[in-house]
Amino acid sequence: MQSKKRYYFHGDVVDGSTQVYCAQHDDMVDVAHFYDMEIHPPSRLSDYDRYLRSRKAWNRRNSPLRQHYSRPTTARNIFA
Ligand SMILES: [Zn+2]
Repeated sequence: MQSKKRYYFHGDVVDGSTQVYCAQHDDMVDVAHFYDMEIHPPSRLSDYDRYLRSRKAWNRRNSPLRQHYSRPTTARNIFA
């Protein structure tokens, strides 16, 4: 059986790495990225709200995300 791809919330620490997932830029970045106003400028959604949005989509009843992805309950997140 094919294993599911890891699903990352905004601010999740990447498994086996010190990098963090930025949903705003859809990229794995260093933590400093979030504090650099030029590369990660403030947007309508705060980083915390963006994290909550990821979590809400993931936790939605019968979310199709969970059919294709997995996210350990022990995942670390810098905004949680
Ligand atoms: Zn960013």
